[in-house]
Amino acid sequence: MVTIKKTEVFDCLIIGSKEYLDRDKKYPYPDLLRHAMNALALEMKQTIPFPKTINGFLRLLEEAVKNWCPSNFIPENFDRDFGVMDEGSLSEEANDYLAEIYTSNQAEIIEYASSSIKQLAIDNSKFTKILERLRKVYNDSDSETPQHEYLSLRCFLIKNPYTNPSQIRKTFLLSKHFSKEEVGELYEECQENQIYWYCDRCGVLTEKHGKLKGIKPRLCGNHHQDQSYVHPVEWKTGLLRIKEGIHQRVCFPGIPELNLCSAAEELKEKHPNCLHQVKLYPGLDWYDLQLRFSDGAVWAIDIKDVRDPYKLAKKLKPLCDEGSLRYDESFYVISDRCIANYPDYLKILCKEAKQLLNATHLVSEKSFKNLVNGKITELQKGGTV
Ligand SMILES: [Zn+2]
Repeated sequence: MVTIKKTEVFDCLIIGSKEYLDRDKKYPYPDLLRHAMNALALEMKQTIPFPKTINGFLRLLEEAVKNWCPSNFIPENFDRDFGVMDEGSLSEEANDYLAEIYTSNQAEIIEYASSSIKQLAIDNSKFTKILERLRKVYNDSDSETPQHEYLSLRCFLIKNPYTNPSQIRKTFLLSKHFSKEEVGELYEECQENQIYWYCDRCGVLTEKHGKLKGIKPRLCGNHHQDQSYVHPVEWKTGLLRIKEGIHQRVCFPGIPELNLCSAAEELKEKHPNCLHQVKLYPGLDWYDLQLRFSDGAVWAIDIKDVRDPYKLAKKLKPLCDEGSLRYDESFYVISDRCIANYPDYLKILCKEAKQLLNATHLVSEKSFKNLVNGKITELQKGGTV
């Protein structure tokens, strides 16, 4: 029988809701969901009446958790202004929280979950395992091959939300440190005769009641089929789609990373005498971009695409500055879509990111591009070229 601590009720609720939504058969309710409902019913007794039906309960889950969930149950890293569900699917906030449960070390609760949830946790760890292996080789002996292989794998995953076995085989034929089978395991098979969709800005889309939905509706929400960035993918034998956890952790944040990298590459091509090098994911992804200018200055950049500035602020630390990662200036660049979604984003971030001690600049994508352009102009004027 499930024996779960009070502090884990919320985790049960999130995992249980995911299990409930993912399966066709709704009865009996998943153990973890039932457990969470019982614990909530007991605790909520004094405040608001607990819904009498499952539909009533599901409706409650759509509301901001602060309105109904006993505050001693709400974990610190879950934004209380959000619900657990959003239009009948797990909410963006709940999805992020679930990813944290998968990656946390004390995820004993997963033991009680269904096999599909266990599989999701395993899937989530697969990419991390490849990265750890590459980092070991990188530190022990050779740094060039793992760096090159990491770059090709990460870029492949970001650029190919859909692929097929022969494309994987061709791309990773010569990889030394991971196999093409391992890459294949980051994808799942698509079903025959279905139309799939993706968005250039946020990746794989899912269809629900004829409406297309992305992984983070608050950052990328308009997926009308007429939009130029929304594309259909027709089923062909062997069609594969990126697994959810990899989409969430690698592809979605990777899109602005690659976009900023292309913008920097373009400037390098235009001004090769000023901007000498653009390096993506240096040192196996200690940060996202390294720019090297003609006066010897090195800039380190990490791109952040997190909706909530308060949440991001807690995670920001100065970027690694050792060996080949050394830099003169460092930047956290916040994606334009986050800033558009949250007007005071940078102001809040600057105030809250206490661990940075002002060592790292916090800027928007747009102002970062201006800074690079400014640096190039300065170099051209200075005649150091
Ligand atoms: Zn989108």
